[in-house]
Amino acid sequence: MSTHDFDLFVIGGGSGGVRAARMAAQRGARVALAEALGTDGLGGTCVNVGCIPKKLYSYAAHYADAAHESHGFGWEGPAPTLNWGTLKANRATEISRLNTVYGNLLRGSGVTVLNGFARLDGEHAITLATLNADGSPGHQSFTAQHILIATGGTPHVPHFVGRELVITSDDIFDLEPFPRRLVVVGGGYIASEFASIFNGLGAKVTQLYRGEQILRGFDDEVRHFVAAEMVKSGVDLRLGTDVVDVRKTPDGLRVELEGGHTVMADAVLYATGRVPNVKGLGLEAVGVAQGQQGAVVVDEHYRTNVPSIFAVGDVTNRLQLTPVALGEAMVVVDQLFGPAAGKPPRSMSYEFVPTAIFTHPNVGTVGDSEAQAREKFGHVTIFRSEFKALKHTLSGSSERTLMKLIVDTASDRVVGLHMVGAEAGEIVQGFAVAMKAGATKAVLDSTIGIHPTAAEEFVTMREPVKS
Ligand code: NDP
Repeated sequence: MSTHDFDLFVIGGGSGGVRAARMAAQRGARVALAEALGTDGLGGTCVNVGCIPKKLYSYAAHYADAAHESHGFGWEGPAPTLNWGTLKANRATEISRLNTVYGNLLRGSGVTVLNGFARLDGEHAITLATLNADGSPGHQSFTAQHILIATGGTPHVPHFVGRELVITSDDIFDLEPFPRRLVVVGGGYIASEFASIFNGLGAKVTQLYRGEQILRGFDDEVRHFVAAEMVKSGVDLRLGTDVVDVRKTPDGLRVELEGGHTVMADAVLYATGRVPNVKGLGLEAVGVAQGQQGAVVVDEHYRTNVPSIFAVGDVTNRLQLTPVALGEAMVVVDQLFGPAAGKPPRSMSYEFVPTAIFTHPNVGTVGDSEAQAREKFGHVTIFRSEFKALKHTLSGSSERTLMKLIVDTASDRVVGLHMVGAEAGEIVQGFAVAMKAGATKAVLDSTIGIHPTAAEEFVTMREPVKS
């Protein structure tokens, strides 16, 4: 045991920080976790203003379709209307329940939870800005054998006239009133998800993206397919479109586009990427190396150039995904305090990380896009299936599903698996296990399908569409 106040001091109470703190404490380490937002912030972006509330709002949006589609199955009566206030209040109650759960899990594991903004003050030293009992600013100093930076990321909004009038994903969940006209700027995960969700909730959504197709980096066919589905469901998607400025008018916000067109909106959501949350952390003073956009640079052991300081999750600006931060946190804990009893030390692989985009319909994907696979393997065989899901034979919906497999021709290994359709995330998770285990197309072919499901298509694609 070290002579420091703590064996591990975690800065940031998000997915990575909480996981690391709990696991380390369970191994017997003396652990502190500081969260600038206090107990209300426990859970970080994912719990408070990311994955969880986003998915709840996505469920809410799906009810509009469900009500409409139920008529084809014999249900009668008018569609219910959305009470935005109820949705917001119920979401807030659930998020605050989760904040409490996180607090209890930490304290139950023996972690000292500190409310305040932590700053590095040396290789083993941390200063915590707090409030005194009379409300005046105070501070506390601590030392720790190891320090873990897990401060996550924050939305990035470029500079333009009217920047102060727009909102980010941090603000969208509590908007008041409901934005009847919403402009969404960006073409990544967040922009595309919120364009779909607010379209489903009943807003008139215009999504503006500067490039030739949304979701750059994903399989091209998937990008075009989901974009077409989003447009079909009502999103006014404008590609190759840049914003000049945003101005306030008596009729709402006027978004001027390059080329002279304008769009009127009640709210303008900028989802133009996220940057590492490093402001005020004292990285420069302690000499922690930083990369692009201030990201904390770490080696394969998540160690910074200062040997006692580690970092995981979005603050390192690699794969900005909660399960990735969780995986990284567990690797750090195993390294520093040993693996769980009877278990080998964990390792982290960035190969075949599955992901879902909760657009409507969802995108689920694991492995390479067709273009990436062609570049890596040269010869690839492509299997593809596009169909109307059984449900929609009666629902009246024209939504279509896309499934695509990319196989390395030489080894027969499935190197990419992509889906656009209902519950794509749920379906792709299982296939990701098979792909990590090295599944070949022959293995998929020999797997019996579950009938009638959409997922069975992945094991019944016989004829390649191209090779
Ligand atoms: P992304 O990096 O995914 O997308 C940013 C988008 O904004 C891109 O379309 C980009 O365009 C565009 N953009 C960037 N700068 C500008 C600019 N100056 N003007 C106009 N457009 C611009 O970031 P997000 O904010 O959507 O999400 C951040 C990360 O959070 C994601 O990468 C993902 O890892 C994670 N996330 C994961 C989710 C999930 O798992 N379901 C859900 C939400 C977020 P271009 O393509 O041309 O660069």
